[in-house]
Amino acid sequence: MPTFELREWQRDVLGSMPRDLLGMGAPVIGVKAPTGSGKTLLALRIAEKFKPNVVIAVVRTWTEMARFWEDARRFGYKYKPLAFFAKTEHCLELRRRRKASASVGGDEGGGLEEDEVDVRCDECSLRNNLYEEHGGFVLKYPLDGLLSVYSSVNPNLRYPEYRRLVRDRLSLIDPEYRTGGFCTYDHLRTIAKEAVRSGTPILLIGTYPYVFGPPSILFRNILGGGARIVVIIDEAHNLDTLDFLERSISNARLERLVSTCEKYCSKEPGREPCSGLDRLRRLVNTVEERLVRIVGSYDAERTFKHPKPGHLWELVSLLSLVRDEAVKFTEFETGGSGPVRGRTVLSFIDTVDFMVRLYEFKARCRVGVDSYWDYDPSVWGFYITRGERSARLVAKPFAVKPIIQYAWARFNGPWILMSGTLPGRQYIEKVWGLNVSWYVDASDMVHIGRRKVVISVREGLTSSFSERSEEMFRKYADKIRWIVLNHSEPGVYLVVYPSYKMMKGVTWYLADLPVPQRREGEVRHLPDLVEEALRLYTSGGKLVVHAVSGGRFTEGVEFVRRLGDGKVESLVKHVILAGVPFPNVGDDFVQDRVLASGLDEWEWFNVHGWMNTVQAIGRAFRSEDDEATIWLLDYRFDHLADNWGITRGAVWVRRE
Ligand code: SF4
Repeated sequence: MPTFELREWQRDVLGSMPRDLLGMGAPVIGVKAPTGSGKTLLALRIAEKFKPNVVIAVVRTWTEMARFWEDARRFGYKYKPLAFFAKTEHCLELRRRRKASASVGGDEGGGLEEDEVDVRCDECSLRNNLYEEHGGFVLKYPLDGLLSVYSSVNPNLRYPEYRRLVRDRLSLIDPEYRTGGFCTYDHLRTIAKEAVRSGTPILLIGTYPYVFGPPSILFRNILGGGARIVVIIDEAHNLDTLDFLERSISNARLERLVSTCEKYCSKEPGREPCSGLDRLRRLVNTVEERLVRIVGSYDAERTFKHPKPGHLWELVSLLSLVRDEAVKFTEFETGGSGPVRGRTVLSFIDTVDFMVRLYEFKARCRVGVDSYWDYDPSVWGFYITRGERSARLVAKPFAVKPIIQYAWARFNGPWILMSGTLPGRQYIEKVWGLNVSWYVDASDMVHIGRRKVVISVREGLTSSFSERSEEMFRKYADKIRWIVLNHSEPGVYLVVYPSYKMMKGVTWYLADLPVPQRREGEVRHLPDLVEEALRLYTSGGKLVVHAVSGGRFTEGVEFVRRLGDGKVESLVKHVILAGVPFPNVGDDFVQDRVLASGLDEWEWFNVHGWMNTVQAIGRAFRSEDDEATIWLLDYRFDHLADNWGITRGAVWVRRE
């Protein structure tokens, strides 16, 4: 069993834990501590004190699962970690279908988008592979051995490697596994269920939808009725926007609907619905054209805007017409055999039905609608938005309180919220609807890395809306160019902008910078970006990464070099805040969130400006040895940097 020592601050926090907390049925605990400080281990230790059977840890992305898995392994945690990533990654049937489609010249996905696949395990011959029947299902092998196999394989490996390791280890339990078929998803589910049933301590690691989304009932099924649970929410500041719940129809999705129906009909041209293919095409063309034209009439590039009532009515009505035509093609998806089926048409219909019901609810012309909703429909809004090539009608929740409370009722037990940018107690209570029993702010107890701070006070730089102009963009570009060319450290120079528009405006003046640059929205596969950064860093080069606050480059990617034994080094050596990253005041979704929060506008913007700034800075500090310079390029940082605690613990602060 590995041995380890808690750090001093972790011991202090654990020692100060109020005694009566353990007697409460379901207290909420907030832990605010920077990334790299060891807060994952602290949360696991706090969870353990409640003596649960099951600890559930939910993270935002698949990549973030590894942190819990690694810490639980490294520190010999008594709860064995089982990480649940998407069924579509594990599914051998789906992989077989994709391969077959690729070999006959189809697209790599076999025509199936991730959310447009129906995987029905109950029709699969690989299901229940670990059981044998003796008047009921009985495990074929000892649970301990199976748990050791699955908890010992890193969930972040690419799937073929993950499977190869599982197979090698399983074949030590039963040599049959060297050649026999099995499904890792089925195994994980079975092992977790059996562990809960037998009271064996386990740590279930999954992404947010496993707790906050209606799509997955997996954890509920695994838990059954009586398990004592503790839930840990990682990077809990993300509870503020549960964006995986949004439903949207884009021009690309409409095109996919038609091409899927065409594909179905090219395989079976004689089927009845195919006679309506032309009509479906015409209708979709009309809707697509109107969608693009309507969205184009708003200033909605990468911004959410409320559609005018007439536009919303027109789009919802047109989509209903497409839905009624598309429904005829569902027989291609509901019929057939085999565990994997397409659900492009079914999923489109689901989304349109949702939007129609929401529209009717909002227009107050639907009665008795409540049984349809998992969450209070009054906190959902309609928005339109535009990307480089897409126009979208979106339905999404602007208040998260009912969604969090719904999850709270289903996963009732102590909750531990942790984040380096966890909002304060009042915010959590008022906006998220959770009563906080204990709030630990460790920001002054632990400082990670060596932070040097430069605040630009006299250069007149600001991202304030009233002062944004081409001239200001050019000034920002000049300053960024100077920083990149006058510093010798290899690695990532991360520039963070408050909005996509501002990033576009400034980077236009940086086109000739003689250093490789990548802009948010231009990289599809994030691991490629990290690989490029690592390659450049190890060869002494620089990479300028232009990120939009709250986007994929600041929240969804870890620019790190792995040093072994769980240690990492951040590749980010300069973080350049090109303005104060307040949320976009001209975005209707932001305005709806402010209103729904019950806070006054400045209070809400202040919390979010702080969160965005500290999140961006946190990219540079993943371990105690990291060292980076933080450039705060906006004169408003002169007072905000102190108020937001950015200058506290810095090795030096320079105002220039
Ligand atoms: S049990 Fe079968 S259908 Fe289900 S994920 Fe595994 S391979 Fe796919």
